Amino acid sequence: MLEQLRGIVQEVNAAQDLQSALDIIVRRVRESLATEVCSIFLYDTDLNAHVLMASEGLNKEAVGHVSLAVGEGLVGLVAKHAEPINLRDASTHPSFHYIQETGEESFHSFLGVPIIHHRNVLGVVVVQHAQLRGFDEGEEAFLITLSAQLAGVIASAEATGAIEGVSPSGHKISDTVFGGVSGASGVAIGKIVVVFPKANLYQVPVRRARDIDQEIGYFTSSLNKVRDDMRNMHERLAGRVAEEERQLFDVYLHMLDDDALGNEVVERIRSGHWAQGALAEVAREHVRTFEMMSDEYLRERAVDIKDLCSRVLFYLQQGEQVETEYFEDTILVGEEVTPAMLAEVSKSKLKGIVSVKGSGNSHVAILARTMGIPTVMGVVDLPINQLDGREVILDGYKGEIIGNPSDTVRTRYENTIKEQAELIADLEELKDLPCITADDHRVHLWVNTGLIADVAHSLDQGAEGVGLFRTEVPFLLSERFPSEQEQTDIYREQLAAFSPMPVTMRTLDIGGDKALSYFPIEEENPFLGWRGIRVTLDHPEIFTAQIRAMMRASIGLENLQIMLPMISNVNEVNSSMQLIKKAHRELTQEGLEVKFPPVGVMIEVPAAVYQTRALASMVDFVSVGSNDLTQYLLAVDRNNPRVANLYSAFHPAVLHALYHVVSEAQKVGKQVSICGEMAGDPGAAVLLLAMGFDVLSMNAATLLKVKSVIRSVSLDAAQDLLDQVMQMDDAQMIRSAVDLTLYNAGVDRLLRSSRTN
Ligand code: PEP
Ligand code: MG
Repeated sequence: MLEQLRGIVQEVNAAQDLQSALDIIVRRVRESLATEVCSIFLYDTDLNAHVLMASEGLNKEAVGHVSLAVGEGLVGLVAKHAEPINLRDASTHPSFHYIQETGEESFHSFLGVPIIHHRNVLGVVVVQHAQLRGFDEGEEAFLITLSAQLAGVIASAEATGAIEGVSPSGHKISDTVFGGVSGASGVAIGKIVVVFPKANLYQVPVRRARDIDQEIGYFTSSLNKVRDDMRNMHERLAGRVAEEERQLFDVYLHMLDDDALGNEVVERIRSGHWAQGALAEVAREHVRTFEMMSDEYLRERAVDIKDLCSRVLFYLQQGEQVETEYFEDTILVGEEVTPAMLAEVSKSKLKGIVSVKGSGNSHVAILARTMGIPTVMGVVDLPINQLDGREVILDGYKGEIIGNPSDTVRTRYENTIKEQAELIADLEELKDLPCITADDHRVHLWVNTGLIADVAHSLDQGAEGVGLFRTEVPFLLSERFPSEQEQTDIYREQLAAFSPMPVTMRTLDIGGDKALSYFPIEEENPFLGWRGIRVTLDHPEIFTAQIRAMMRASIGLENLQIMLPMISNVNEVNSSMQLIKKAHRELTQEGLEVKFPPVGVMIEVPAAVYQTRALASMVDFVSVGSNDLTQYLLAVDRNNPRVANLYSAFHPAVLHALYHVVSEAQKVGKQVSICGEMAGDPGAAVLLLAMGFDVLSMNAATLLKVKSVIRSVSLDAAQDLLDQVMQMDDAQMIRSAVDLTLYNAGVDRLLRSSRTN
């Protein structure tokens, strides 16, 4: 059974398009279950009906023509209840709806199973029999398992059609929506540039060749380089490795010399594809063919083809590589967008960002928010390879991409873009006004930074200090660890720009979703693993160089604060303090006049919440990292779009933890701030000020929105709201109560423009 399932899934995966995938499914299921009929109905949004898309056993002419309205017939019932229906005699069921064109009158027994993808019923797969026999449990389980496995493939094939503007039944459609998660609010209309990692055959986008002969030239020279490499390796390894291993290079050379692969790629380039895309497509097709072979030896050759073609791709991307061209209104799309990819596009051209992986609190989304670029994360069904050069609308509020926009929808979004600009212009007036509540309570608004570009933007927004400088950002943009002097220069720039305002520099916080290409950390569970202070305490040389650089950079400015990430016990603080003191001692011995800076601890894991008092007593301040605290308290990966709906900083558990931290820090007289994204949500900011946070540190793009809200509410009103929500037990209810307060304060215009779940 498992073998059959595996075989079908593999064959379907290899299909070229939706129709061939469906045809394979009906043929293979009918064979496997030895039924007389197998059919697939898919829901077509355009028709608002389930259309018979493929069938083995029913009249072929009916395929593509017959459809059942929503809720109609047994198919409609299966889809409506999202449950299988298994009947011995379908014709006696009250929902039975006979469709003459299909010729199904002779089939009595019926088993219909829904095809569900991300809670969405895509359609129904049906098997039928003439005999009055019903389907047994095993058959039903087989169809359910298969349908669950194929739903993703069908969804992605449908998505490929949708981006071309075609519905499953072949109708022309517009406004095709691809759902994800909001990464940064705002709307953008622009053309897609797909960015992709090097030497990965599965992520090369489809792109037209600009100059066919030149592309062929690139390809042949890359192929020749691989051929030379193989010959060299073959010779070098003679007598040094086992003969079977050496034979691998023979196999590679045969594949290259026989030219079949090469000719196919050249043919494809001639038909208009760029060399990288042509190579990737040919490679993927060959890999699939080999993977499906029943002979184990031949199946393993798939790995050889992948390896060989990756080598050619590597040279193609290295060699005469043309620079990526960015449009004036670029929407950057990638399987996994990295800070380095963002840094390559000039700010004036970057209008939007879309990442297939990641979620609203992934670091790239945080960076995008800081830059004020509308962003959508976790668009898992996006047919990324097909997108290069297409125009789309990006809705960063809802977390959606809209392909083939109609004039009506486009006009609507153009108006939103205008409103956005007006709102930003209106908020500018608040820049030089103090951040005080309507009853004169002072709140300090600081910013989170990382990129050099953040500095000017932050100062421009009236920031009063830096609550979090993510020092890992320059590390992520580098190709090796920056030296102590290089770090000193970077830190000096930050400190000088904000002087005399305080700048809180966090020690290197890598691990989790922040991987340095030159210091890879492979872990099963990266967020529970070697992260933040755990890494740097294990590498005191990295920690010390960073501390020394920070202190050297602060000489004469004296506005440095140091902050420790991911602290989960007091020993980590003790060890860090020892290293910080040692670095200070050494610098003093070297004759430098360095003031010992205030040191603080981040509260971002539940253990630290319950040790706030002990931790705060050891340092000068504490700062809550609500992004991580929320993920760890709720056991929701901040990076996983599947569980994004469960990630909420308004969850009562998060609010109670925050309140606890503030009161414990206050008991030992230490300053308490918050630097997670929550501080930049205008509604959340009202709760945080009522809790008693001394400083709210946020991305610069939200600072004026938060100031606008704080200036519109009184501390009394904020405390009343806090009392009210602390009694509530549901995040949604809390969010609504907060929204209502903003509405009553007359700042509901901001409600739509920024929120953290
Ligand atoms: C946090 O966890 O809230 C935080 C500020 O740190 P980061 O988002 O960089 O993990
Ligand atoms: Mg964190």
